[in-house]
Amino acid sequence: MNPPAGQTVDYLRLSVTDRCNFRCVYCMPPEGVQSIPHEQVLSYEDMAFFVKAAVEVGISKVRITGGEPLVRKGLPSLVAMIRAIPEIHDISLTTNGVLLPRFAEELKTAGLNRVNISLDSLDPRRYRELTRGGLLSEAVAGVEAALRFGLCPVKLNVVMMPDLLPELPDFVAMTRELPLHVRFIEWMPVGGCGPRSTSDSLTKDQVMAALQKLGREGSGELMTDASPMGWGPARYYRFPGHAGTVGFIGSVSGHFCSECNRLRLTSDGRLKNCLFSSEEIDVKDAVQARDGQRVVDRIRESLERKSFDKDVETGRASRGMSQVGG
Ligand code: SAM
Ligand code: SF4
Repeated sequence: MNPPAGQTVDYLRLSVTDRCNFRCVYCMPPEGVQSIPHEQVLSYEDMAFFVKAAVEVGISKVRITGGEPLVRKGLPSLVAMIRAIPEIHDISLTTNGVLLPRFAEELKTAGLNRVNISLDSLDPRRYRELTRGGLLSEAVAGVEAALRFGLCPVKLNVVMMPDLLPELPDFVAMTRELPLHVRFIEWMPVGGCGPRSTSDSLTKDQVMAALQKLGREGSGELMTDASPMGWGPARYYRFPGHAGTVGFIGSVSGHFCSECNRLRLTSDGRLKNCLFSSEEIDVKDAVQARDGQRVVDRIRESLERKSFDKDVETGRASRGMSQVGG
């Protein structure tokens, strides 16, 4: 179906791997998920060919994601290939950050614009529990590396899991001096991981009320703020005088199909027009044959089937977040 007037699909989420060095409780089961065999995964050259073809249908922004994209070898070389496509004006990366101290400089040199780093807790013990083994100090070093090498704006993704509320003062304190944009994300029931139901995770209203209380207790009134260079669904707020912002992504309650500008490519070359749908269109053969017209035709087919006029039910996806590129 055609997008509503003024709405274009210009944003590609490109999953470069389904593998990960973490097993976050809301994303993967403790034993992980069956990995896609290496021979079925697109090469970086395949992915860059796809992006070049996707420009023809209007794609101008690419977010590299996974799994954990930095566990795949040589990621800066993919960034450089995408940077060489003039129509792509924004390349971003979503990462858990722990490998950023090693790669931030190289990624910046290759042409990466900015990063989103998942940082669900500032308490080392809770961080380790939520990621099932991650070290907070390594993720924080990743945030520092991103700031140092100018992968800005640096956004922090915080899934609103139970027990987040006592940590809010620490997250707010982080935005006082540092230009960090903390985004509280509603837990999505994708892939069968995490709380039993959405009622077990926190809502935007609960977190917002707690932030406003912090404001009354001394941080000052929370004011609506402009989006720090992003076109996504987040809404941002700022405490007076703070360098950074806090924001919300209502992935479930604020999810409107009519506003969706995204297309996804999985690491095994399947197009997904919706995170919550199980429908996929295989584009790997066309990409590997370097048949640009066939790739464009498949993208158009996928976009034609994209739902813009109704709000889809969440929870129908056949593969989890780490497999389709959250
Ligand atoms: N490994 C990278 C990371 O964690 O940033 C990139 C992939 S991860 C699937 C992308 C984003 O999806 C992360 O910010 C993560 O917090 C989010 N995510 C994963 N599962 C989720 C869920 N069930 N609900 C909401 N967000 C989720
Ligand atoms: Fe890995 Fe990211 Fe999923 Fe955590 S959220 S398990 S880091 S893919």
